[in-house]
Amino acid sequence: MKYKNRRVKSRGNFRPQEVSCAYCKTPVVIYHKGGNGGLIKMQLHRIIEAEVDVGVLESTITCPKCGKILAKLGVYNGKPAYWIVRGQVNTRWLKNYKL
Ligand SMILES: [Zn+2]
Repeated sequence: MKYKNRRVKSRGNFRPQEVSCAYCKTPVVIYHKGGNGGLIKMQLHRIIEAEVDVGVLESTITCPKCGKILAKLGVYNGKPAYWIVRGQVNTRWLKNYKL
């Protein structure tokens, strides 16, 4: 993907998840997910790769292919984070992903 976050480290429970557009199925983000619940938000330091430059803090993450808004910039624990727009993304665990 275009944007890569070199600071993400593989630790004990490293569990990358692919986040793709629910409409056109394009993978947009690889995310270092904690816990087993559904994906609610994406903290910036846990975004491993993205098809958009999340380093510039756009107000939304938009699907590069079909233009749907997938997530909106907000705040989590006092830091900027992207909150998933409900129903706009599909997720799947990546079993053989290497950093
Ligand atoms: Zn799309």
